[in-house]
Amino acid sequence: MPARRPLIAGNWKMYKTRAEAEGLAREVRTGATRPGVDVLVAPPFTVLAAVARVLKGSNVLLGAQNMHSESEGAFTGEVAPPMLKEAGCTHVILGHLAHGLVPIVCVGETLEERDAGKTMAVVERQVDRALRGLSPERVEGLVIAYEPVWAIGTGRTASPAQAQEVHGFIRRRVAGSHGPAAEVVRILYGGSVKPDNIGALMHEPDIDGGLVGGASLKGDSFLKIVHYPEG
Ligand code: PEP
Repeated sequence: MPARRPLIAGNWKMYKTRAEAEGLAREVRTGATRPGVDVLVAPPFTVLAAVARVLKGSNVLLGAQNMHSESEGAFTGEVAPPMLKEAGCTHVILGHLAHGLVPIVCVGETLEERDAGKTMAVVERQVDRALRGLSPERVEGLVIAYEPVWAIGTGRTASPAQAQEVHGFIRRRVAGSHGPAAEVVRILYGGSVKPDNIGALMHEPDIDGGLVGGASLKGDSFLKIVHYPEG
């Protein structure tokens, strides 16, 4: 079974004008040169094409932050999968499996659910729903992100042990539904990932990368995460 390649993904959310986005993309392109680690950025829709131009010919992957499930239609404010592909995207956060884009499927519990001891039940339901009806080959190709809601943008990170407990649970659940695909699917941790906590998180056996929000908005902090310490 091949080892899973780590993936560090930066979600820029609703930040960056075109000039800022191009500048950050150039920094990432120049600095994200770590062999064996995949790097992805997910800028806002408005700058996808500009960032794609900067990243062209590099190994940095481009993702969108969302999309509609239909190929086209009268949906105000929505963006269709072929539009994202045309803009240069290969991945999409919270997406659907059609159209050859790799979805980064986010799951995670609220603080209330965690405190009520419902974390595993919530995550199990979300994972089952996301993977229902998919072939093992499709499951192998997707990316799951465990993002405890209470850790997103709050500065509170799940401890490596807390995250590993859920990641291990997710992988066992996927093994139950899709067999050996569970050993291939990448499970990222997201929730206040920073340069000083990524190393310990990546040390855990079932954490295959990070989905990074705030710390992906500056080249130096994102690149420190990409070059997380081993061991
Ligand atoms: C995210 O954007 O998915 C995220 C986890 O944000 P932050 O790293 O800022 O918590």
